[in-house]
Amino acid sequence: MSMRAVVYQGEHDVAVEEVDEPEIEHPNDVVIDITTSCICGSDLHMYEGRTAAEEGIVFGHENMGIVEQVGDGVSTLEEGDRIVLPFNVACGFCENCENGKTGFCTNVNPGFAGGAYGYVAMGPYKGGQAEKLRVPYADFNALKLPEGGSNEDSFALLADIFPTGWHGTRLADLQPGESVVVYGAGPVGLMAAYSAKIQGAAEIYSVDRVPSRLDLARDHCDATPINFEEGDPVEQIKDIHGGGVDKGVDAVGYQAVDPDKEADDAYDPARENPANVLNNLIRTVRPTGQLGIVGLYVPDDPGAPDEMAAEGRLGIDFGLLFEKGQKLGTGQCDVKSYNRQLRDLIIEGRADPSFLVSHRVGLDEAPEMYERFDNREEGVTKVLLEP
Ligand code: NAD
Ligand code: ZN
Repeated sequence: MSMRAVVYQGEHDVAVEEVDEPEIEHPNDVVIDITTSCICGSDLHMYEGRTAAEEGIVFGHENMGIVEQVGDGVSTLEEGDRIVLPFNVACGFCENCENGKTGFCTNVNPGFAGGAYGYVAMGPYKGGQAEKLRVPYADFNALKLPEGGSNEDSFALLADIFPTGWHGTRLADLQPGESVVVYGAGPVGLMAAYSAKIQGAAEIYSVDRVPSRLDLARDHCDATPINFEEGDPVEQIKDIHGGGVDKGVDAVGYQAVDPDKEADDAYDPARENPANVLNNLIRTVRPTGQLGIVGLYVPDDPGAPDEMAAEGRLGIDFGLLFEKGQKLGTGQCDVKSYNRQLRDLIIEGRADPSFLVSHRVGLDEAPEMYERFDNREEGVTKVLLEP
């Protein structure tokens, strides 16, 4: 049996192709009918040819659906259950999983810490931008959703970016009444700013260059928008705030745009400086403040601006970080540490992250939407695919 799926063809090229349907491979697997799978900024690093990803990968790590087949060893799920899956594939019983660090499971991807669906170097798991998906360790990985179709958009964001934005604020140890800067107002940055609002931040600064994204930060996250193309964002924030802020989140990663570099296209790799956001964070956050780095950094970047960056070695102002006595945390989000609580905030109406969903389209429109999301086109904020 075959099904349709979004398959990576090479740089800036994805296609909807017929691939084999997934099957139960282990008694603790389930197979789901996908109802929603989102396109993520993380997919764009692969899409742009800026990772070691090879053609043929089925993309899609932000998956939600209805259980269709149930392995013999599964005890908590049955056909017809609505579930959302952490982008992490995790076993639940290795040392890291036992400690809640499911983003660093040591069993699902031997030789590496952490697995994910449809992602380079994250194990053999196919992505869910398709009609169906196999879910390993299903009892552990599935999060059940209530019956009925409400909050569909918000629930889809539980697979990755709502927990990841939240994780950014936790890595920064944000406390009620503190000030925070969030670099990046893409989906992850907006979720970090929104999480900061829910957690009681006194002041939130949101930095980006896309006006429609900065508008969402202002309107839905109570953030002060800062456009980094209009002047040094650190100086802009210090002027408004009257000094350094308490905490900071990096929701951009290694493909950060450096506004001092010029090119015809705003996101031309020639404009990148992979240490730009880290160094701006170190400068924006006060001495002894804390940084949460959820923007992605890679050890292999085939399109890096220089040889060091190609191996993930960056020119970070570590001297200034030391002088300021700042702390930092980084890495993949352990989605399972947060998704149940965030689901319940959504169910009780205390959180509604759906404001950032700009498009819900059929799988066939994936190639066009990859291109538009990759261009950070005005108004294209978060794209949900339904097969
Ligand atoms: P995105 O590409 O849509 O958003 C990035 C935003 O950063 C864009 O709006 C861009 O204009 C802005 N930007 C670029 N340079 C900047 C700069 N110098 N200063 C401020 N803003 C700048 O992607 P996204 O979906 O929001 O993801 C953001 C990052 O988070 C990506 O690197 C992604 O891979 C990563 N990510 C990490 C995890 C995790 O578990 N740690 C999970 C999901 C995504
Ligand atoms: Zn994602």
